[in-house]
Amino acid sequence: MVLEKLGTSLKETLKKIAEAVFVNDKLIEELVREIQRALLQADVNVQLVFKLSESIKQRALKEKTPETITKKEHLIKIVYEELVRFLGEHKQEIKITKRPTSLMLVGLFGSGKTTTSGKLAYYYAKRGHKVALIGLDVHRPAAAAQLEQLGKKINVPTYVNKTEKNAVKIYHEFEKEYTKYDLLIFDTAGRDALSEDLIKEIETINHLIKPEERLLVISADIGQAAQRQAEQFHKSCQITGIIVTKLDGTGKGGGALSACNASGAPITFIGTGEKLDDIETFNPQGFVSRLLGMGDLEALLEKAKEALDENQVKDLSKKVLQGEFNLVDLYDQIQAMNKMGPLNKILDLIPGMGNVGIPKEALAGQEEKIKYWKILMNSMTKGELEDPDIITPQRMERIAKGSGRSVGEIRELLKQYKQSKKMMKLLKGEKNPDMNKLMKKMGKFKK
Ligand code: GDP
Ligand code: MG
Repeated sequence: MVLEKLGTSLKETLKKIAEAVFVNDKLIEELVREIQRALLQADVNVQLVFKLSESIKQRALKEKTPETITKKEHLIKIVYEELVRFLGEHKQEIKITKRPTSLMLVGLFGSGKTTTSGKLAYYYAKRGHKVALIGLDVHRPAAAAQLEQLGKKINVPTYVNKTEKNAVKIYHEFEKEYTKYDLLIFDTAGRDALSEDLIKEIETINHLIKPEERLLVISADIGQAAQRQAEQFHKSCQITGIIVTKLDGTGKGGGALSACNASGAPITFIGTGEKLDDIETFNPQGFVSRLLGMGDLEALLEKAKEALDENQVKDLSKKVLQGEFNLVDLYDQIQAMNKMGPLNKILDLIPGMGNVGIPKEALAGQEEKIKYWKILMNSMTKGELEDPDIITPQRMERIAKGSGRSVGEIRELLKQYKQSKKMMKLLKGEKNPDMNKLMKKMGKFKK
């Protein structure tokens, strides 16, 4: 997939939102930083990155969540919408209304003009249009032959003159043929840079053809430099759209796409390979959806819904903070955790807990214990569950007999309960607890 790396990083980031228990300022800050990092790695311009992340942050912090969706869904929606806007928001279509409609491709050497001419011809021919290719690149010796070959492959009539060195003459040479077609695609010559000479040539041909579309072809591998190039061409030749090629071969595609959008000229197509059908219309919404893997995201959101919901967690924390935490709550906590899956996964879901460094073996043992704790608790009285301090050695004997477990196991459960209670006390009063610090204070979990 195009921009795979950027997609992966953004997906990872959104996964964190889906799995987080709380949406708070800290999570938003973290999210914005990760999006920034991912975009900078895709060579997006620093200022554009800053602008984008600032609008995500402002909306996330200020916008009220609509009643119909959760905070998490809202946050993911904001990220999606802002990314779409970042890439141009709406799809820009080339309309073939007039017969014939003319497209003129311009751009620098090697940007992919000739290849893209062939791709576009194939694209529209497949959709039932009568298409012709006309070669007006008189600077490159092999240009005419290249276009001719492409035309042959896709069965599209191609008009070239391999010896004529004047593009205007070539245009007139085939003029009477043009009315036979719905769509005329003109391949033109490029230069190493947008020189006076090139501008003049484009102006001359433009005046001659008066094409409906003047499409600038830009290679994605120039990354954010695409903005300057697009602006220059736009200013001198009034382009109507941009085609970004070679998105398949570079990690800088995010930079090129956002840069083109910032230039003010819309992106119409993207080139994603060397083959003739490696072309797509550019639709920012579809593009971002695919980049973020919306299918995956929906699944994630579902998972987030099934697990502990925010209110449940709040209820529990409130109780805990008021010092009311007892074995019943520990039991509830365990039940809720069981619903969420294996313990090591759950720890990843709790902000800050993922990297605390609890050894895997400790966790595996913990899961086993949780199973028999439930059995033990089922043999306790309501009074014992609500106030475990009343559990004397005699009571332990009774519970052990009733549950078929050992007294040692009951002691262990009570120890865990005291530890949890201690941890809850530490949490008390901390608005955004730093789990790492807390764990260090607790000490015991590190062993
Ligand atoms: P021109 O000088 O602008 O006409 O550029 P060409 O059409 O001759 O293309 C230059 C090179 O880029 C050729 O080797 C093409 O095969 C290659 N190319 C063009 N578009 C793409 C694309 O979307 N992906 C990849 N990987 N290569 C492309
Ligand atoms: Mg060419």
